[in-house]
Amino acid sequence: MSMRRREFLKTAGAAGATVAFGKLPWSPAAGAAASAAPVPQPSWVDKPMRWAQLTLVEDDPGKFDPRFWLDYFARTRSDAVCLSAGGCVAYYPTNVPFHHRSAWLGDRDVFGDLVAGCRALGMVVVARTDPHATYDDVQAAHPEWIAVGADGKPRRHWASPEMWVTCGLGPYNFEFMTDVKREIMSRYKVDAIFINRWDGSGMCYCEQCQRSFRDASGLDLPRTSDPQDPSQRAYILWRQQRLFDLWRLWDGEVRRINADSCVIPNTGGGATSALDMQRIGELAPMLVADRQARRGVAAPWANGKNGKEYRATMGRKPIVGLFSVGVEEPYRWKDSVQSEAEIRLWVADGVANGLRPWFTKFSGVLHDERWLAPVERIYQRLALWEPYLRNELPLARVGLVYSQQTGWFVSGGHEDHIHGWYQALVESRIPFEMVHDRLLDEAHLASLKTLVLPNIGALSDVQCGQLRAFVQRGGGLVATHETSLCDQWGVRRKNFGLADLFGVTFKGRIEGPMQNSYLRLEADPATGKRHPLLAGLEGAPRIINGVHRVEVEATRPFPGPPLTLIPSYPDLPMEKVYPRASKTDVPQVYLSEPGAGRVVYFPFDLDRTFWEILAPDHLALLRNAVTWATNEDPVVTVVGPGVLDVTVWRQKTSITVHLVNLTNPMMMKGPVRELVPIGEQQVRLRLPAGTMAGTIRLLAAGTNPRVARSGAWLDITVPSILDHEIVAVDL
Ligand SMILES: [Zn+2]
Repeated sequence: MSMRRREFLKTAGAAGATVAFGKLPWSPAAGAAASAAPVPQPSWVDKPMRWAQLTLVEDDPGKFDPRFWLDYFARTRSDAVCLSAGGCVAYYPTNVPFHHRSAWLGDRDVFGDLVAGCRALGMVVVARTDPHATYDDVQAAHPEWIAVGADGKPRRHWASPEMWVTCGLGPYNFEFMTDVKREIMSRYKVDAIFINRWDGSGMCYCEQCQRSFRDASGLDLPRTSDPQDPSQRAYILWRQQRLFDLWRLWDGEVRRINADSCVIPNTGGGATSALDMQRIGELAPMLVADRQARRGVAAPWANGKNGKEYRATMGRKPIVGLFSVGVEEPYRWKDSVQSEAEIRLWVADGVANGLRPWFTKFSGVLHDERWLAPVERIYQRLALWEPYLRNELPLARVGLVYSQQTGWFVSGGHEDHIHGWYQALVESRIPFEMVHDRLLDEAHLASLKTLVLPNIGALSDVQCGQLRAFVQRGGGLVATHETSLCDQWGVRRKNFGLADLFGVTFKGRIEGPMQNSYLRLEADPATGKRHPLLAGLEGAPRIINGVHRVEVEATRPFPGPPLTLIPSYPDLPMEKVYPRASKTDVPQVYLSEPGAGRVVYFPFDLDRTFWEILAPDHLALLRNAVTWATNEDPVVTVVGPGVLDVTVWRQKTSITVHLVNLTNPMMMKGPVRELVPIGEQQVRLRLPAGTMAGTIRLLAAGTNPRVARSGAWLDITVPSILDHEIVAVDL
């Protein structure tokens, strides 16, 4: 076994594990052109702008009123719908053995009736399946379909203990659920099949999974979550391989029956998501970002962040934002109703960031109807705005990079660094996109001027080369902390992969958590002036430091660094709280201008600390770093009070600036009680070369604003914003 482990590590680390795994979900040759042939787009995919979902519960048949729902779909001007069909409960008279019909179904075809009703409304119709749980008779006849826990025992369902959890990676999905999909598609010729909870429910130790994993990797299934454990690393990749195989199998089978259809697996996300977004972006004709609402401490921009994360690999393919009308906390009150203001703000931020909304409701019988009118109002407004929501491309010039390989293979907080940057860019009103770390080739970065690397620990040599080329072409780069200190497998390098760009070398130590450490703000010794990085910090001799810092040594001269280290000194007893060194010559930022580009490297966790502490001094550094690195006039500036999420889009014959008002006492933790209007905003928009502005409208206010035009610039006055205003400029 140890021989096999070594062999695996060797292939994984060097040649890219292709020997061990055949075609991996991703290859370390980062940025290599996608190998898969493009997946055909069903003809309907780009049409729907407002989605509805009705997930039936088992006792709905005979109790709920389908006419009520059809009427609601029409009133909300929903143009696509997702309806419960089968999987754990069948809502049609299925003939697939062991496919459990609803005990209340009788001789009805509830699903078929709803499909017919929605078709009559002209809607795109998608069937919903959920394979994650099953019953005693199935377990008795097919024990190999049931998930097995680490203790070797078949797993009962955690919430419905009369049921069993199914294995996501074995014959239950590959065979039984394939039959179910074939039957649904053959009978109803739906436009797609949406697949919820299809990827297993945690680790499965069934015989099939053990054998299949051993055949692929030569290893036993991991018993640890340590990503540097060879079996865990292999598992991260093998599981994806199985799921992408499953996706392709299902997609091929439904398209064989209805060529203008596809499957829509419920999957995807950012740096913490388990399935490779690059491959997802190749396979999916459209996707659903299933982040239903806020929970815990979260800003409303978390919905827009999904849109950006998915778009990073989906490009112009439609991305739908699935939102709940209820409270989404760990206690799962699935029949609850959220405040109208909270739903409005959540949906608004998604729409501003390119998501097409999808409301979901469980249970055809409503226990609380208070959400109906709010969602109807939201959808009716969006229907009026539709021509201005059909975006062609974002006009943002800044890209915030996220890295799933860092999330998978490097322990420690990439996501908190992303959150810090996200909050800082929103507060700074700088429009930005998110960028996937394996799409750093020239074509994917063509529209961007600056890339932000939030502690992206794991970067391959190829990726580092792409970043170098980006800077050589005139791009700006802002990086923090341990960025590029590991290779693509999360294995620590001797030095940064980007050491040459940063102008430093790693001294082998990371210090922290640091107590009571500061940054000293320095003026240029030659001119006596402070660097633009310190704008807004006039009068401050020092500000608080981050919490962890990487010890580095400059490899070229950095005269007059704007920030230097004031090392930690005792914070107790109070009599001992005095700096032992009020000044050092240790820079805490490295600014350089290699080639035509600009590089900012902070050798500490500025972004993560900002997310934890939210200090305005740190916000100034983050904002100034991006502004200095970008080194051009912004596409749009918005001046006025409050917190706004600002996005800028090009449509075929218009440009839109979305202004989502996040100013609210419940901004960082929902739910919002009421929307609080903010006052006048001055929007300064730079028109793309070769365009001329025609009519300019404020879509929410329904007015023509005051506009001053000078050359390529438009100065537009927006008198007030309640939740979401769109400045629409016809070209
Ligand atoms: Zn299994």
